[in-house]
Order: sequence, then C-alpha cells, then structure tokens
Amino acid sequence: MSQFSRRRFLYTAGASGLGAIALKGCTGNPPGREAAAPSSPGAVPAVNSGGGDAPEVTTARLGYLPIFEAAPFIVAVEKKLFAKYGMTDVQVLKQSSWGALRDNIVIGSAGGGIDGAQFQMPMPYLIAEGRITDNRKVPMYVMLQTSTQGNGIAIANKHLGKNLHLDVSKAKGYLEELNSKGTPFTAAYTFPGANQELWIRYWLAAGGVNPDTDVKLIVVPPAQTVANMKTGTMDGFSTGDPWPYRILSDNIGYMAALTAQIWKDHPEEYFGMRADWVDKHPKAAKAIMKGLMEAQQWCDKPENRKELGQILGGRQYFNLPINIVESPLVGKYNMGDGQPEINDANMGPLYWKDSKGSVSYPYKSHDTWFLTENIRWEMLPAETDVKALVDKTNREDLWKEAAKEAGISDADIPKDTSRGIEKFFDGVSFDPANPNDYLKNLKVKKVKI
Ligand code: CA
Repeated sequence: MSQFSRRRFLYTAGASGLGAIALKGCTGNPPGREAAAPSSPGAVPAVNSGGGDAPEVTTARLGYLPIFEAAPFIVAVEKKLFAKYGMTDVQVLKQSSWGALRDNIVIGSAGGGIDGAQFQMPMPYLIAEGRITDNRKVPMYVMLQTSTQGNGIAIANKHLGKNLHLDVSKAKGYLEELNSKGTPFTAAYTFPGANQELWIRYWLAAGGVNPDTDVKLIVVPPAQTVANMKTGTMDGFSTGDPWPYRILSDNIGYMAALTAQIWKDHPEEYFGMRADWVDKHPKAAKAIMKGLMEAQQWCDKPENRKELGQILGGRQYFNLPINIVESPLVGKYNMGDGQPEINDANMGPLYWKDSKGSVSYPYKSHDTWFLTENIRWEMLPAETDVKALVDKTNREDLWKEAAKEAGISDADIPKDTSRGIEKFFDGVSFDPANPNDYLKNLKVKKVKI
C-alpha cells in the first residue's frame, strides 16, 4: 500500500462519523440570517418569475471552512449578491473539517449534504476519481478560483534561531540531526494531497529536504492544530490565514514562509460543484458564480477590507477577535525569528485581481500544476492523463459565460486557458505545456521519471 493510499484509507475509515457530526453542524448554524436560512427548502422553480435567463432553482447548499479563502461565499450571503442574481435561498454552511466537507459533497444536498463548496486543490479531481472517497467516483466541476496567497507555514518556537525560514537549505543539517536522533521534524496539514501538503512539500524540497524521508508529515484536524503546536507534538504547520497569524500572536511559533513568497500570485482555493447539479441547473450555477465574482470584487477594494474583517471575524463565521483577522487581510505579517516584517497588501490574500491578472478565473494551467504535483509525490499514478482530466473537470467556459452575462469588462476576462510559464522562489519554472519536463528537472521527488 502506498503512503497515499494508506493515508487515504485511514482518512476514509473515520469518515462516516465525521460526516454525521458535520451534518449536525450544518443544520446547527446560527439561524436568523436571511440568506443563510431559507424559508423554502428544496428546489423552487423560478421559470415564472424571471423570464428565460432565470435560474432553474433559487437554492443551493454550499460548504466552507473558516479561513480567508471562504470570504467570497460569506460576503455573497451578507451583501445579498447570490439573491441579486436570482439565487435567493443559497445556504452557506460551515464545515467542521475538510473530510466532513468532502463527505457532504459525496452525499449531495439530496441526502442532506451540500451541492458545492470551497476546495483545496486538487480535491474536486480526487473526488471525481474516487481517490479520497473509497473509490466512489462523484463527477465534479472546478468553477472559479476563490483567492490567491493568504497561506503560510508556521514553525513552533522551540526551533527559533535554527534558520528555518524561506530557504530551508540553511537548516538542512539541523533537520538531519533531528531525524538521526529519532525525533524528526513533524509537519502537519489538515487534509492530505492538497494545497497545504503541497505547499509544505514544495518548500521543503526546494531546500533539498526530502519530505518523505527527512521529516515526518502528519494530518491534524483543524481544531487540534494550535493545541498540538503548544504541546510540541507538531513542529510545523501549513495552513490558511488567519491560523498562521494566530500561532504567532499567541506566541506559540513564528512564520517560516508565506505562500506568497514561495509562489507570488499562486492559485489557492477554488469553488467546485457536483457535476450533476451543474448539468441540471446551468443557469443557477452561473448565477452563483456571478454572486461570487461580485463578492470577490468587493473583497479586493481596500476601503472594504476593514468591514470584511468584521464580517469574517463575526460569531457566525470565524468567531475570532478582530485584530487576528485584520492584520493578514491587509498583508501585515510579523514573521518572527529575526525575519523582516511584511507589510504589503499584495502579499496577503487577494480575491479578484493580482499582479498577473485574474484571480477568479480558473486557469487550466493551474489545475495542471496541482495534478502534476500529485504525480510528483506519487499521490496520482505517473500515467495519469492530466490533460483529459482537466478538460473534463475544469469549467472555465462557464466562468467566461457568467462573467460576460454579469457585464465584467473584456479586459478582466482571460483569453487563454493557460497563464503560461510559472516561476517559483527557488528559480524552478513550470511550463504547463510540458509538465513532464518540470517533473524530470526536479531534484527532490518521489516519482521515478
Ligand atoms: Ca488554503
């Protein structure tokens, strides 16, 4: 059994219990918010109320996790932007973990689960291929990118002064020493095979550290991360804002790297939906996307960031003190361990535009990178037909249709499904037209290529 399938087994073995808890959590979301608590559950045909462009239904159940990537969903509810496009009864439901979110997608709203969600990549692909769902294949579509940046790698205070910063090569000897003593550096993330694990693997490997043999990688439920860092069972933690910041402000650890340093303007999380739901309700799916796009534009306006922090930090959503939410939202990161402070809004989470263009548009070239990175670490077989998978799953065509219908200017609609060659902080390039060359040239990898 490969490492990935063993972990997959462990994860799915405990999934049914998690799912049940998550569903309770869903219905237990505080009521009282108009858009989050529909008065008419179930599909409500809208054909008589809005003419030919009206969505087929006015309701959908969408899942999110309380990290900054969820902001477009939350803002679309709070600012009634789903309703603006005819989706008057969208429910945005907090999930207890990535595993619970996945289980609720597999169940679908027909079974009390969800129709779509915020996703780490390439989760929608792994669900569609049955690789994280006990071989149960649930066709999925990738619809829109929620955000860029806003993630990071936190390190426990006991490693202060050991040069564990962006360039890990300077701490390679230290990590080897820990490993040889039988106390390997233990790094965690909240779901295997997706963004958080891929960021920490990329960062380690860029410094010549083999994530499979030189350190220990573990999956930790989100609720336990801060506690595990405190008790010392976890040395490093890869996650989304505001959690890395929390670790620093609680004086538990420091930041080794921001994902914005590893890969400026990188693809982060996505909005994905069950393919059967989108195929049945294409107009409703586009209406949801229009609401999300407008929310993304709202989130990116500097004058709205303070209010965004207040909304996200609220009891119904993240339930966190405002100062913890506010700083990373304006790109303020106290890195710690003698590293210069970062104070640049362009290094924090961005939702609509970054220095390379569109954040929201789901470039096929980025899906290709995530799947290639899964092949790099033998999470997917080397013979995987990446192009066929991406063509089947990525719905950039629907994004473009929705953008045009919403009156988004042509300049903000990418012409090419590829963003072109991507460059990482260690000088490595990824040419989406030749993913095999990227794999061949990487020094640290698991795949034999
Ligand atoms: Ca993330």
